[in-house]
Amino acid sequence: MENDKSAVADRPMFGRRDPDARGYFGAYGGRFVPETLVAPIEELTAGYLAARDDRAFRGELETLLTHYVGRPTSLYETRRLAAECGGGPSGKAVGAGAAAAATAAARGPAKAGRGVRILLKREDLAHTGAHKINNALGQALLARRMGKRRVVAETGAGQHGVATATACALLGLRCCIYMGAEDMRRQALNVVRMRLLGAEVREVEAGSRTLKDAINEAMRDWVANVTDTYYLLGSALGPHPYPLMVREFQSVIGYEARRQMLDQVGRLPDVVVACVGGGSNAMGIFDGFLEDAEVRLVGVEAGGDAIAPGRHAARFAGGSTGVLQGTRTFILQDEAGNIEPTHSISAGLDYAAIGPEHAWLRDLGRTEYVHVSDADALEGFQTLARLEGILPALESAHAIAYAMRLAAEVADDTVILVNLSGRGDKDVQSVVEALR
Ligand SMILES: *Cc1c(COP(=O)(O)O)cnc(C)c1O
Repeated sequence: MENDKSAVADRPMFGRRDPDARGYFGAYGGRFVPETLVAPIEELTAGYLAARDDRAFRGELETLLTHYVGRPTSLYETRRLAAECGGGPSGKAVGAGAAAAATAAARGPAKAGRGVRILLKREDLAHTGAHKINNALGQALLARRMGKRRVVAETGAGQHGVATATACALLGLRCCIYMGAEDMRRQALNVVRMRLLGAEVREVEAGSRTLKDAINEAMRDWVANVTDTYYLLGSALGPHPYPLMVREFQSVIGYEARRQMLDQVGRLPDVVVACVGGGSNAMGIFDGFLEDAEVRLVGVEAGGDAIAPGRHAARFAGGSTGVLQGTRTFILQDEAGNIEPTHSISAGLDYAAIGPEHAWLRDLGRTEYVHVSDADALEGFQTLARLEGILPALESAHAIAYAMRLAAEVADDTVILVNLSGRGDKDVQSVVEALR
């Protein structure tokens, strides 16, 4: 591990593919912020660009990613899941109960002996149970480097709040998490976790009392306390430089995955599949393969229970371009430009905007986007649990469900890599309720 460190600190994750000077990826991104935020955003941009060029900063991040987060996370090849889809290293089909048989029937007959392979990048094994810690730790180190002693963040379901509270505990930073009152009620356990980690959790009563309102409050706090406070945003969203910075902190996923594919499988995957909420885990894994033109990159959005206003969060299926919370991108809005309510069984995918770099890569034809319904995600959750002994996060279960659909359609020797963005312990209660 130690002797690998300097090599990893030199990895080309920083400083490639920057947006333009105004923060645009093609027609998307930018900085749509009130006057009061212009100076703090400029200070942040300068602070970030300096930090990413600083070997000491990168070295400290690498050390913590290795010894604290537990990186590299493993690349694991499924056997029973691939076999269920008619492929796998053994090539043997495995019977797996009535529910799976029903899915298989819905997909059409599985062709026995097909060699489709399905591999999982195990971000669920990272400390705190998801990829979010990669970004939280990177930005918390940046906050400290910029001389900020207090961190504010928003959280929806609480996953980003927990990752941020964790990073702040580790680095001795004060931490204040804004969370909608409705979300606090639904995610009471995460509120307890954050408080145990030493964070203050502030209840947001405004608007729909969910994530969007929590972001507004966190930004307000930042403006009011900017001399000592850092705003730690949780996905590849918001005004420049956040989409760039979050992608660069998450790109460790794709960097590791590409090397692991070559080491363990001897080739690159044909397709990389990742779920897309704001888009950080997907940008993180896609980043490792963007320059490999032959590798298909597929983002999976939340199809909810129908592609109809208020019933899903598939921005590319029901959205159009607009501005939300600091960035121009694809958003779910009505004809008058009002943000539509969204729905997904997984809280982490339930947001009206997608990261701007995704919109740009889609325009360029480099990435593709599909959506998976609540029902199919639930099926993916149960299938992975039963066949591989892994409870995926409901977000990640969307990617699993799509990989299963894809495996039934593609050529025999196709290799599919799925980013398993997080573990599903947090979702057990929701799954039990949904199955009732
Ligand atoms: C938050 C979360 C997501 C969605 O966020 P992205 O920024 O799109 O990655 C996906 N999976 C898990 C496990 C999460 O916690």
